[in-house]
Formats: sequence, structure tokens, C-alpha cells
Amino acid sequence: MISLLAVTTYKVFGKPVSPAVFLLWFLGALAVWLSFRLLKDRLDRARIADYVKQGGGVVARIVWNPLGRGWLGERGDRIYEVTYRTRDGKMVSATCKTSMFSGVYWTGAPAPNIEQSPESIRCLSCDASIPESIERCPKCGWSYER
Ligand SMILES: [Zn+2]
Repeated sequence: MISLLAVTTYKVFGKPVSPAVFLLWFLGALAVWLSFRLLKDRLDRARIADYVKQGGGVVARIVWNPLGRGWLGERGDRIYEVTYRTRDGKMVSATCKTSMFSGVYWTGAPAPNIEQSPESIRCLSCDASIPESIERCPKCGWSYER
């Protein structure tokens, strides 16, 4: 290993350097990459926790999973396994993808429910909001139970 290091010419910005200097540069670059990675990881977690909180849930655990569901073809996004408690007190595990610019996407498993308010649902026929206590759409009479 030592002799291999000795016979190879290392260069940093085109200048030949000793293996020790090259190693320092390499470690420095690695440290920079790692600190960026950790920073992004922190931002991701904060973003996911925010998202779950908006839905009335509380995050219990977020685990980075580089090979989670949907990793193919999405290089910029990072994938996390998220376990959280919903508004109703249920523990749910879901997989989500996130990146600095694309927001939070939930793949497969149920996502925190923030699209609709808890009090009303939307009519699939005319898009009017239907109170949960009523079975039929007040506007067009459409019903989930036919
Ligand atoms: Zn309707």
C-alpha cells in the first residue's frame, strides 16, 4: 500500500503533490461534502416535520433511506421513512421524497392528510364541499352511497 502510494503521482489543481497532501485535500473535500449532506438532512427533516404538523400529526421518527421506494430516476430527491402520529392518535409509517426545491412527496403509504379540512369533503360530481354530517351533496344531490 505504501509503495503503491509512493509510485503514483498525485495532483491537486494540476500540481504534483505528495501523497500526504493529496490525502489532506481528499479528506477536506469529503468533510465539505459531508457537512453539506448533514445540512440538507437537517433541512429535510425540518421540512417533513412541518408538513406532518400542518396535517395535525406529530413526527415520531424520520429515517434516511437512500434505497427507499421510488429511488430510481430521482437523483435530486432524498427518501425518508417517516413514522408519525396522526390527529386521531394513530401511528402511521410512510415513505416520502423531498429535496430543497420540490417540496415533500409521499410515495405509496398514506400521507398526512392536509388536502381537505376535517369538517368537510368534496363532491366528486360538482366539487362543492359537503359537510361530514350530510350524506348527499347539497348542491347537486350526488352521494358517496348510491
Ligand atoms: Zn355536488
